Amino acid sequence: MHPFSKPQIMATKTAETKMTVKGSNGAAKMNNPKERVEKFMEKVRAKNSHEPEFQQAVEEVAESVLPFLDKNVKYKKARILERICEPERVLMFRVPWVTDKGEYQINRGFRIEMNSAIGPYKGGLRFHPSVNLSVLKFLAFEQVFKNSLTTLPLGGGKGGSDFNPKGKSDNEVMRFCQSFMTELSRHIGPDTDVPAGDIGVGGREIGYLFGQYKRLKNEFTGVLTGKGFEYGGSLIRPEATGYGAVYFTEEMLSLRGQSIEGKTVVISGSGNVAQYAAEKVYQLGGKVVTMSDSGGYIHDPNGITPRKLDFIKKLKNVKRGRIKEFATNYKFQCDYHDGKTPWDIPCDIAIPCATQNELGEEDAKTLVNNNCKVVSEGANMPCTPEAVEVFHKHKIFFAPGKAANAGGVAVSGLEMSQNSMRYQWTREEVDKKLRDIMTNIHRSCVKYGSENGYTNYAKGANIAGFVKVAEAMLAQGHV
Ligand code: NDP
Repeated sequence: MHPFSKPQIMATKTAETKMTVKGSNGAAKMNNPKERVEKFMEKVRAKNSHEPEFQQAVEEVAESVLPFLDKNVKYKKARILERICEPERVLMFRVPWVTDKGEYQINRGFRIEMNSAIGPYKGGLRFHPSVNLSVLKFLAFEQVFKNSLTTLPLGGGKGGSDFNPKGKSDNEVMRFCQSFMTELSRHIGPDTDVPAGDIGVGGREIGYLFGQYKRLKNEFTGVLTGKGFEYGGSLIRPEATGYGAVYFTEEMLSLRGQSIEGKTVVISGSGNVAQYAAEKVYQLGGKVVTMSDSGGYIHDPNGITPRKLDFIKKLKNVKRGRIKEFATNYKFQCDYHDGKTPWDIPCDIAIPCATQNELGEEDAKTLVNNNCKVVSEGANMPCTPEAVEVFHKHKIFFAPGKAANAGGVAVSGLEMSQNSMRYQWTREEVDKKLRDIMTNIHRSCVKYGSENGYTNYAKGANIAGFVKVAEAMLAQGHV
């Protein structure tokens, strides 16, 4: 098992110090925020006992939202937070397929339809051996808040399979995708649930999934996003998550009269998000010195230029090779660190773009000691709660994934609009809309998360994301 696949926070946290006071009616009332979160989490843990990643995501939101509910009793009375923690629907199904050698394989498929208060369920599909109910419920839960922040009419969902595309032939991947979609197609639709890509699901997989859906339903609709431009995809969708994370970083810096220009940036991952984050940092005058995959990281002190990044794109997207081949190719300029993460390399900005819980407390302390000033999550929940605590303690500007990486789903939302209109916007038009959306998300985080001259972006994103969904849920009654 890879170290990142095991969350560093576990389900069985002990209760914090108890402190109760008597309310006016004589009933015991809690005035310790930690104790209230603990009480809330006791129930969440009991109901979702083998789901540590889901519990971790809920706890992080509960810490910000529970105090907010005290001042907004209407949400508390309608038990909105409890309802948001319960998926509207969980689908789990068998995915049978056959290898090139004729061997029978069985994988497990999932779709979590988490919340449809503000629009059709929307969120990616992940194909990775570590996929299970806990991972997908955490991702679907985060997606509800993220989609709300984009200001677009998008509910929250997530899905995927424990299928591993690595080492499979194109035909095997196609057969798997067709089998997966044969079941999933019963539950999704352009006005119901619109999946996209995530880890292990890129343009190739979306193409096969779309082809099978079209064949089964005999209709050409915007049922998936992240499609190729030739068949209804949006320009800038492949770039959107990485570009968006860097636009958000630029917003955080500009609030303090700074910019990315001249800054040294450490990036983890070398997939879709990492590639386009690296590209945008370079375009804005920053220097990216690391990238990684599940095998280790490369360190290139001179910076990853567009030519080198092209090498990485071909290596990862076409050849489907390992990042250490970059170090072999550029051996006089760069080192490869096997089995390690890049957080000990000195930098001004860190953008984790690989996977959940890839940056722990010790990594956070190292970054702080090395004078890193900004951490922006390109991936979903890459920093453990302990790492986030270190960042807040040291007043580092920390952007949570649900805000910083919302650019991907935002452009997916724009892809849905273009599909409905049967029209395609230009690159410049989509990029401008993406930039505006990231600016708005930043503004919302600052509005709800600023106190004493410091912005707690995590708190801001949680509350801003919650309010819109909560209002819609209140309006629609107890459903
Ligand atoms: P890709 O599959 O394109 O790339 C994933 C990258 O992360 C690869 O470099 C991969 O290395 C590395 N990685 C995956 N799992 C692990 C692991 N357990 N340990 C170490 N490295 C790992 O995925 P994306 O770039 O699309 O997604 C990356 C992150 O961004 C995910 O958290 C995803 O949920 C999030 N995200 C993605 C969006 C999108 O639009 N694609 C939108 C919003 C968030 P290797 O090649 O060795 O597997």
